[in-house]
Amino acid sequence: MRVLTIFNSKNIIVIVSFFLINFSYSQKKDFTLVLDAGHGGHDFGARGPYAHEKNVNLSLVLKVGSLIEKNNKEVEVIYTRKTDEFIPLIMRADIANRNKADLFVSIHCNAGTKSAYGTETFVLGASRNQDNFDVAKRENEVIYLEKDYETKYEGFNPSSPESVIGLTLMQNIYLENSLKMAAHVEENFKKEDRFSRGVKQAGFVVLVQTAMPSVLIETGFISNYQEGEYLASEDGQNTIAKNIYDAFISYKKEYDKKSGKEEVKEVVVVKEKEKPIENVLKVQFLASFNKYGLNASQLRGLKNIEIIKSNGRYIYYSGSTNMRSESETNLKVAKEAGFTDAMVVEFKEKEALKNEYYTIELLLSPKKYRETDAIFKGLNKVTREKNNNVYIYTSGKVINYESAKRLLENIKKLGFSDAVISKIPAG
Ligand SMILES: [Zn+2]
Repeated sequence: MRVLTIFNSKNIIVIVSFFLINFSYSQKKDFTLVLDAGHGGHDFGARGPYAHEKNVNLSLVLKVGSLIEKNNKEVEVIYTRKTDEFIPLIMRADIANRNKADLFVSIHCNAGTKSAYGTETFVLGASRNQDNFDVAKRENEVIYLEKDYETKYEGFNPSSPESVIGLTLMQNIYLENSLKMAAHVEENFKKEDRFSRGVKQAGFVVLVQTAMPSVLIETGFISNYQEGEYLASEDGQNTIAKNIYDAFISYKKEYDKKSGKEEVKEVVVVKEKEKPIENVLKVQFLASFNKYGLNASQLRGLKNIEIIKSNGRYIYYSGSTNMRSESETNLKVAKEAGFTDAMVVEFKEKEALKNEYYTIELLLSPKKYRETDAIFKGLNKVTREKNNNVYIYTSGKVINYESAKRLLENIKKLGFSDAVISKIPAG
């Protein structure tokens, strides 16, 4: 059936534009961040005079996560743990890998002599530096708390620097980005006048297993009285979380630029900002001596139809808009409906006609009526004109299209459902 086909083609257009809208929205979740609170459960991590590391790590991770969830709806945040529970190192990396994360951030507190203090952020690398190795060794030792650690970590020995070197090669492709994130973290800590021990490389098991840029932040020494108090305090934790958040935002900006996401956004904005034009665009799709009702099958299901009679012919228009893009769509719809000669015409609906005027064609009838007959429902100035064997009855005289549309509407309300606007030469 012809009408059915037309409907389908229209539906396709509706679906396509809906899909485009969805597409631009779905781009919003364009980044997955895994936040990893070090230790947990029976693994306490480092113990300080004010707090256990596992609790500080969790509190920091939740604060960083909630800042991102509140301000960056385009980022999906995944936590390796949100409660005080034990998660094996390999499982933390596995969570990140399974979710195809774009960045992995592991948060820890450092421990050392009572006088040691400051922040440091690690990326994976083979370090010959004893201090760095010691930090990694301490953070890696948690694997001894896991069952079957020998088979799970395939002969990895946290106490041996050589054991780490082989494993680090795999993360090398992510090194550049890992270093960028680490640098942003340390920069932000420095803004708070914290002592930065710098960006460092060492062999952390949790970083070895992840297949994405990854950092491990030592947010300070929990073993130091002053810094330990700061790490345990609400204010201190809020500041540290904000520093890590800001670092992430800087990193994300660079990431978006690199992946061209910013440009995509600009294109969308330009598209949305199409300005309406002054005049009205309609699709003229048919001119005929025949008068069809708006729902006649000859009009093939086209919507928002307007009819103007001119020189004895009825001109059919569809889709009135002041947006160019919309008129192009309307034209496409008309052509797909089979009106291959359809074209877009520009209307100045407010402009006065010269040497012509608009009237409303009330009805066509072989019968001869008088103006006072009940069929005209009290309308005055009804004119009658004979054309072949048919009388054409009209009423009203206005000089711009906007007024003609209003007049037509009022006359239709009186029950003249087949009434149309008619353009008549003046005089
Ligand atoms: Zn730790």
